[in-house]
Amino acid sequence: MSFEELNDAVAQMGERSFRTAQIFKWLHKMQADDFSQMTDLSARLRERLDEQFVIDHLDVVRHLRSKKDGTEKFLFELSDKNHIETVLMEYKHGNSLCISTQVGCKMGCTFCASTIAGYRRDLTPAEMLQQVYTAQKVSGRHIDSIVLMGIGEPLDNFDNVLRFLSLISDSRGREMSLRHISVSTCGIVPRIKELAEKKLGITLSVSLHSAFNERRSEIMPVNRRYPIEELLSACRDYMDKTGRRISFEYAVIKGVNDSPEDAKRLASLLKGFVCHVNLIPVNPIRERSYRSDRGTTAAFAEELHKYNINATVRRTLGADIDAACGQLRREYEI
Ligand code: SAH
Repeated sequence: MSFEELNDAVAQMGERSFRTAQIFKWLHKMQADDFSQMTDLSARLRERLDEQFVIDHLDVVRHLRSKKDGTEKFLFELSDKNHIETVLMEYKHGNSLCISTQVGCKMGCTFCASTIAGYRRDLTPAEMLQQVYTAQKVSGRHIDSIVLMGIGEPLDNFDNVLRFLSLISDSRGREMSLRHISVSTCGIVPRIKELAEKKLGITLSVSLHSAFNERRSEIMPVNRRYPIEELLSACRDYMDKTGRRISFEYAVIKGVNDSPEDAKRLASLLKGFVCHVNLIPVNPIRERSYRSDRGTTAAFAEELHKYNINATVRRTLGADIDAACGQLRREYEI
């Protein structure tokens, strides 16, 4: 519930409106998981809240911590017994949490473990919030930034993602700055345009993975619907409207998208863009033979640097705990 919806519910219960701020604070600042913890409410009100409402809850099925780099991975069970993954990563600038937005995914990217078993359902805003609150509680670590880069396509669950962004940034609750939140998309063009209109201050990450339509369509079926030219035009529009630069994700796959021609074409497409390219050595998944290594990725980065493209190789975190999208859930559900 938004603050306003909660306020209406409080009024309907015949309670004074200052109760709304108290309850909202308990939910989002103190992250209470039970109404009985809300000790500045009367016992009677706590009981009535408990009769009429639920605070969504995630069960921790597995909690892994990387010995290499401190990355933590959570496999959560939802109330309908579906599973999702959340990853906590430690960077110099603070702790970043990667959350899921759907159970499974419809997009069908061939290198991604999250989409192999298909799509089950969208996550609610509460289930997205609870990934943040539960990960924070269980790890005991403060979360400084959030990336919507876990299982699912955030822009395919647009309304719930917008509600989540509004709830987590509400100044009366968790108050997380939208500047510390990134939303990653495979490129659903109409939604990028809608998002641009909202001028939210989030960082938009676009998963590109190839600069050639034919190849991109092979590995990312969404490209058949929204080809590269349309996608980049939407990105330009997004930058013009929001004044924010875009981050492009590029999973380097040996023999698929890592040739000097790939780099040249990518550089020419991104000419004039104020952007950053994140190169990720593709994370091998069991069902496919895609491979990469740091050498291949570094060579591709060098190629891009020749054209003055701002590209960096993303550090691999949590490799010993299957921390890439969808790997743990897949292993658990098989
Ligand atoms: N659906 C969104 C967000 C989830 S995926 C999107 O497509 O952006 C988050 C990022 O991880 C995307 O860039 C995705 O392409 C990338 N990814 C998925 N599987 C991967 C793998 N096996 N190796 C490297 N990157 C991968």
